[in-house]
Amino acid sequence: MSGSGVERGQRAVFCGLTGIIWLHRKIQDAFFLIVGSRTCAHLMQSAAGVMVFAEPRFATAIIDERDLAGLADANAELDRIVKQLLARRPDIKLLFLVGSCPSEVIKLDLSRAAHRLSTQFSPAVRVLNYSGSGIETTFTQGEDACLSALVPDLPAADREQPANLLIVGALADVVEDQMRAVFAAMGISRVQFLPPRRSTQMPAIGPGTRYLLAQPFLADTARALEERSARRIDAPFPLGADGTSAWFKAAADAFGVDAGRFERATDAGRQRARGALGRYRELLAGKRIFFFPDSQLEIPLARFLAAELGMQILEIGTPYLHRAHMACELTALPAATPIVEGPHLDKQLDRCRELKPDLVVCGLGLANPLEALGIATKWSIELVFTPIQGFEQAADLAELFARPLVRRTRLVA
Ligand code: SF4
Repeated sequence: MSGSGVERGQRAVFCGLTGIIWLHRKIQDAFFLIVGSRTCAHLMQSAAGVMVFAEPRFATAIIDERDLAGLADANAELDRIVKQLLARRPDIKLLFLVGSCPSEVIKLDLSRAAHRLSTQFSPAVRVLNYSGSGIETTFTQGEDACLSALVPDLPAADREQPANLLIVGALADVVEDQMRAVFAAMGISRVQFLPPRRSTQMPAIGPGTRYLLAQPFLADTARALEERSARRIDAPFPLGADGTSAWFKAAADAFGVDAGRFERATDAGRQRARGALGRYRELLAGKRIFFFPDSQLEIPLARFLAAELGMQILEIGTPYLHRAHMACELTALPAATPIVEGPHLDKQLDRCRELKPDLVVCGLGLANPLEALGIATKWSIELVFTPIQGFEQAADLAELFARPLVRRTRLVA
C-alpha cells in the first residue's frame, strides 16, 4: 500500500481535444467538429501531425468574437457548417460537436445545438456534444467526456438475455481482437466494447451489464454507466503479464468461469508475456523512476514497472486519484510509494531535481528542460497512442521505458 497526499497548483498538460486524435481513428464513421478558436485548430494540426488522413474525420469550426455579435448568428453559422459537411460526407453517421475553452465558445450552448441538429439530420446522422476544454482538465479526459456523452443514448439490453460484459475505454483494434479471443476461450461470448468501431455497433446496456474498465481515466463514463444500472467489475488495469492476467481473472470471477478454464484460456498468453519481459527486467530492475501528472495512467504504470520489472518508484504524480477505480492498483504498489494528487509543478520539479531519477515520465512541455538537466524522459502521451494493453503488448510497454535509458547510455558512452 502507498502513502498519498494532495497538492493544488499550476500544472502543464494538454487539453481534452487531444483525445480526438485516437478517437477519430477508433470510431470509423464518426466525425469530430471542434467548435473553437484558431488556437484549437493549431493544436489539433500540430498534435495530429502526420496522422491526418486524406479525408480527415475531424475539423475545427472557428468561432470568434465577430461571430458572436449575435448568438443567433453563431448558431446559424454552425448549422450552415454542419449542413455543408454532412452533404459532402455521407459516410458520417455520428457527429460530435466538441466544445473548447475560449470565452467566445463557452457562450454557445452546444447541447442545444446538438439536439437541434440531431432532430434535423436523424435518422441518418446522430449529433452529440461534449467538451474538450482545457480548463482544469487533462488530455485523457476528452475521451471520458466523449464516452460519457454516448452512454445516455446506448440501447437498453434485453432483460431476458444473460449478463453481458462491456469493456470500456478506447483500445487498438488488434488489442480488442486478442481480448475477445481470450474471453471466448473462457466461455464469455457476450462481450462488447465502448467505444465501438462503428456507431451502428453501440453496445446495449442494462442491469445485467457488468463492465470492466480498460483505461483508468473514465470516471464520468463509469458514473453514466452506473446511472444505466451497469455494474463495474473491480480489477487492476490490463498492463503487463500479471496485470492483464488479474484483469481477465476479475471478469472470470464475475462470470463464474472456473479456475481450470481460466488457466487454460490465459496461461499461454501470460507465459509469453512473462518470457518477453525477462530481458527488460535485466535492463530496468533497480532503475529509479518519477512520474509527473498527465495521462492518469501513472498509477497502473508504476504498479507494472515496480511489480513486473523491479523498478523503484520515487514519486507518482497523478492529476486525480479515483480511489475506487484504483483500489486494486493501490494495494499492489510497494509499501509507502509516495503518491501526490494534483501536484504543484514547481514543488514537484524541486523534488525531482533533488532525487535525480534515472527516468521521468512527463508531458511534452517538461521533457526538454528535464533532458537538459541530464534526466532521461518518456512522454506520457506516447503511452496513450501506443497499444500497451494485454499479454501480447506487455513487452512493447516495457520497451517504451527501456528505450530512453538505452539511448542515454549510448549518448553517455
Ligand atoms: S480547447 Fe482551450 S486549451 Fe485546448 S486548444 Fe482550444 S484554447 Fe487551447
